[in-house]
Amino acid sequence: MAQDVQDNARKDWDTYFMDIAYMVSTRSRCPRRHVGTVLVQGKKLLGTAYNGAPMGVADCSEDGCMIVEEYELQVEDGEERMIKKQRCIRTIHAEQNLLLFTDRIDREGSTVYVTDQPCWTCANMLANSGVKEIAYHRAYSKDSDKVIALMRVKGIVFRHLSAYEPPAQAGMTVVS
Ligand SMILES: [Zn+2]
Ligand SMILES: [Zn+2]
Repeated sequence: MAQDVQDNARKDWDTYFMDIAYMVSTRSRCPRRHVGTVLVQGKKLLGTAYNGAPMGVADCSEDGCMIVEEYELQVEDGEERMIKKQRCIRTIHAEQNLLLFTDRIDREGSTVYVTDQPCWTCANMLANSGVKEIAYHRAYSKDSDKVIALMRVKGIVFRHLSAYEPPAQAGMTVVS
């Protein structure tokens, strides 16, 4: 009986590492988006990172977000529309921080778990980082097509954990 209870509570590896990525994301001080990521080699955790300003520099909670406006092309029912979007550029993205704080040798053949589907720039850097697999939870449709195409060319396993549910205390509503 006690054994059953334990087995039911036991998390699979994807859930285990994505839960950690979400807990890491709570360190982010950008109110627009909290992103967390972890580097896993085998079953070993080799690095964690979240989106944030460089060390020693005021972050979004201190100086506010650094907002830029951009036009984004969206295609809906075959119709192209330009949509104005706002983005915070104060932070270094979680994936880029992960690459800054891990060693190349640790990344070779590794898996990255990240709360959000990587943007184009992060995907491009991850594609050149030695990582062999990327698992993400929240979709980011803007760059999705070209990121998926890039991962296919590079032979990097790119998995959307769509059935995953983040821990209640770590989830947030994303401003898109
Ligand atoms: Zn911000
Ligand atoms: Zn990014």
